[in-house]
Amino acid sequence: MEDQGRVTPAEIRQVDEQTFGITWQDGHKSKYPCDLLRLSCPCAACVDELTGKRQVTPDAIPKDIHPLRIQSVGRYGIQIRWSDQHSTGIYTFDFLRELCLCTVCKGGEKCQN
Ligand SMILES: [Zn+2]
Ligand SMILES: [Zn+2]
Repeated sequence: MEDQGRVTPAEIRQVDEQTFGITWQDGHKSKYPCDLLRLSCPCAACVDELTGKRQVTPDAIPKDIHPLRIQSVGRYGIQIRWSDQHSTGIYTFDFLRELCLCTVCKGGEKCQN
């Protein structure tokens, strides 16, 4: 069950204009810059399904990108409608937990906050 809490969000919220935050059931807190989340969009338009190559570049993403709407998808993920009108990506909780940028997850790097 421990693993389940690891990938189950207790709270999903917009921290500020540029930051998206998830608190997990195991108590871990993740924060994601919105532009990074948008850039990490896992949909077929953003990532080539065959090669896994990313089709979207940082330049293509507006600096003020932010979620307009967040919808849950079953119990395994969320779908985000972005301010650039892109909304096809489904971010699974597995994926989001994996993407966590914090020092604990990224292993001993100096805290950026
Ligand atoms: Zn996408
Ligand atoms: Zn983390």
